[in-house]
Amino acid sequence: MKIFQELFNQTSIMAPKRDARPFITEKDSSCPFCLANKECLESILDESWEGDELLVRIVPNRYPITSKEKAKGAHDVVIDTQHHTLHPKDFTFSHWEVLLMCIQKRWHELMQNPKIQFIQVFKNYGILAGASISHSHWQILALEEVPYSMQMKYGAYEQEGLCYLCSDLHYKEGFIVYADSAFEIWVPPIPRFPYEVWIIPRKHYQHYGELSSEEVKQLGKLIKYLLQIYHQINPHYDFNICMMSGDVKGNYNYHFYVQLVMRMGHIAGFEIATGCHILSVEPSAYAKEMKKILKGMYK
Ligand SMILES: [Zn+2]
Ligand SMILES: [Zn+2]
Repeated sequence: MKIFQELFNQTSIMAPKRDARPFITEKDSSCPFCLANKECLESILDESWEGDELLVRIVPNRYPITSKEKAKGAHDVVIDTQHHTLHPKDFTFSHWEVLLMCIQKRWHELMQNPKIQFIQVFKNYGILAGASISHSHWQILALEEVPYSMQMKYGAYEQEGLCYLCSDLHYKEGFIVYADSAFEIWVPPIPRFPYEVWIIPRKHYQHYGELSSEEVKQLGKLIKYLLQIYHQINPHYDFNICMMSGDVKGNYNYHFYVQLVMRMGHIAGFEIATGCHILSVEPSAYAKEMKKILKGMYK
């Protein structure tokens, strides 16, 4: 495994052992995330809620991207339900709160390691989103170096000398779906995927570890609503959630946000060749559509 910078300002991580990971799409006795198998797993963090039901369990990834020799760091799996087929849109608000608090707790632990520079939290749900196991889960990847592509993103902030997400410019160019005192849900003017939305804290936080517990609770509520909106638009959707954070040491400036995208097809040759993404829905149109659905459900 090796992190290296490719010719085109990108970072790739070489992790050949990842190919050995299982693909489990149906409920199956071999699912390592099901409750029946939980004793088999070495746990980093367990959180129960109202009785014995295990809501969240964080375990080391059996097929990690990281290793002791090359891409150093940690690679965790967050199993966010014991029920194989329970969809995250159907988690209760309390469940979402506990889940996001657990992820933040682990974030803080990983940050204590002076070598960790960068943490990526993400969720792949469904085959089109890259999930190899259909049982709902997240991943936390902590690295001892900042991926080059992220350094480029952070560098853009430094060059501009202002924060795009704190400035009014993003209102003029993108589309607001929802806003409260803590967050806004915004559609970027040039999305890469259909129904791409960003949940942006109003405060200029560098990374996920800085959100208050009240903000974490509200974030869970908004993610749940957005997944319900996705369901209304397309009942068979796959999706990714990415927590877009600055480096944890504060060497770069960045405005933290959570990105949700619906996955309706594979990335194909044109996208691989050019980096251009093709969308079948206009961002202004889907922002309007999502706003209308949200208005009906947000109370
Ligand atoms: Zn399972
Ligand atoms: Zn900002």
